[in-house]
Amino acid sequence: MRAINHATTGAIIGLSVIAPIAIPLAFVSHYALDAIPHHDDNTLSHNKFTALLLGDLSLCVLLAAIIFFIHPPYWWLAILCAFIATSPDLMWFRQYWDRRSGKKSKSIERRSGIVRLHAKVQWFQKPIGLVVEIAWLLITGLCLYFLLRS
Ligand SMILES: [Zn+2]
Repeated sequence: MRAINHATTGAIIGLSVIAPIAIPLAFVSHYALDAIPHHDDNTLSHNKFTALLLGDLSLCVLLAAIIFFIHPPYWWLAILCAFIATSPDLMWFRQYWDRRSGKKSKSIERRSGIVRLHAKVQWFQKPIGLVVEIAWLLITGLCLYFLLRS
């Protein structure tokens, strides 16, 4: 899933679940969302992929800023959970950086068990998954709208 979808889901958890449960639930939500068919496009050039990534991260920062400025009760938990729900994808940074610098990355099979699990849970990543990503963003965006209004 795109980072913004992990972030909106994490923010919803942070706004609606008590802290000791919200934090691990936000983390687990990452893997649950990754198991849903979603977008990826292996044909994108590195520069286009980077632009997509930066756009995605900008939306996450915008989400955090909106939550901060509206300042609902437990706004900090919503932002923390948004970050935690998105954070497992930081493990792909090494692979991204290797690709950027022209190095060959370690194959998934030779990486840690958590990386292999993360790769395996994402069983469907194709361009058509963009439909699911947009639908998820609309649904979670609507939920956040009502949670932030209350
Ligand atoms: Zn992931």
